[in-house]
Amino acid sequence: MAIDRVAALIRPNILRRRAYAVAPPGMQVKLDAMENPYQLPESLRLELAAELAQLALNRYPEGAPLSLKRQLADWLGVDPAFELMLGNGSDELILLLAMAVAKPQAVLLAPEPSFVMYQAVAEYTGMQYVGVPLRDDFSLDLPAMQAAIEQFCPALIFLAYPNNPTGNLFAVRDIEEIIAQAPGLVVVDEAYFPFAGASFMPRLADFDHLLVLRTLSKIGLAGIRVGALAGSAQWLHEIDKLRLPYNINVLSQAVLEFACRHPAVFEQQARQICLDREHVLQQLRAAPDFQVFSSAANFLLLRVATGQAKPIWARLQQHGVLIKLLDGVHPLLTDCLRLTIGTPEENTRCLELLSAAAIA
Ligand SMILES: *Cc1c(COP(=O)(O)O)cnc(C)c1O
Repeated sequence: MAIDRVAALIRPNILRRRAYAVAPPGMQVKLDAMENPYQLPESLRLELAAELAQLALNRYPEGAPLSLKRQLADWLGVDPAFELMLGNGSDELILLLAMAVAKPQAVLLAPEPSFVMYQAVAEYTGMQYVGVPLRDDFSLDLPAMQAAIEQFCPALIFLAYPNNPTGNLFAVRDIEEIIAQAPGLVVVDEAYFPFAGASFMPRLADFDHLLVLRTLSKIGLAGIRVGALAGSAQWLHEIDKLRLPYNINVLSQAVLEFACRHPAVFEQQARQICLDREHVLQQLRAAPDFQVFSSAANFLLLRVATGQAKPIWARLQQHGVLIKLLDGVHPLLTDCLRLTIGTPEENTRCLELLSAAAIA
């Protein structure tokens, strides 16, 4: 029976895991995955389509697209003293980072709750995962982080800045202390940089064991799957050896190159999303039934009345609005929901349903 071989051969920690859940398509209002709700303007889409039509799909993509990386580095504000490595989404880069340091017993450490892939890749690569709880206000618990670093000597630390799913920026001083004490590699994951403005990119020169991770996903290109890791050549040349050849396909490279020529369009959309975020925040603050946390990202974390998160989430889903249910994911996220900022119309719809569901 295949099932016996499956049980005998697949690693126990993989057998125990659940597959990463992706929402089924077809939701009218999709506010669960921090996508930018806007497409490119029609004129740019047509221009892009004409460029894509010229591509040689019968050929492998450029394996080390140097000029493309230089253009992206310029857009992302990477100092020319540092390099950039591209991944099939930043998820791939998170995996490659773990693979690169996953000696037996090596530890991957992250505060929690944070981005779920950090713990996942620790399991994929056989690393030991250590999660250090944030404080109740979602700030870093620096003494606890320092004690854990001392105790476990992590090979790899991930700090999401701003943090997902809480939306806050950790204190710069706390991050500096952690980097200074860390015996291994520290990766500051800036997936939400377009909505935060704050960055450790200018600090690469200050710490030779710091890398900065970015993605194009949250600014409006989730579909092309491109992430970028910035840092010194010494680190990136080693991690690059683990990258499968041609990890960024021809279509993604072309769209990325196009995007690098039109950064203002994406940045304008991000500014609009930030304005709308503040609007939604105020509306939710005005409602008595919710506790909302301020956010430097393109989503808001919300705490609802005890035991109400799941019923409210289900009710929104019945009405075609998908948000993220976080209750049960981590003790600090009890009664919590996360909503991505959408178009003004989507936000209004979501707010109406939230208020109605909270009263019901
Ligand atoms: C969304 C997200 C990512 C993953 O982005 P991809 O580039 O789409 O793989 C990485 N880190 C954090 C903190 C995120 O929230």
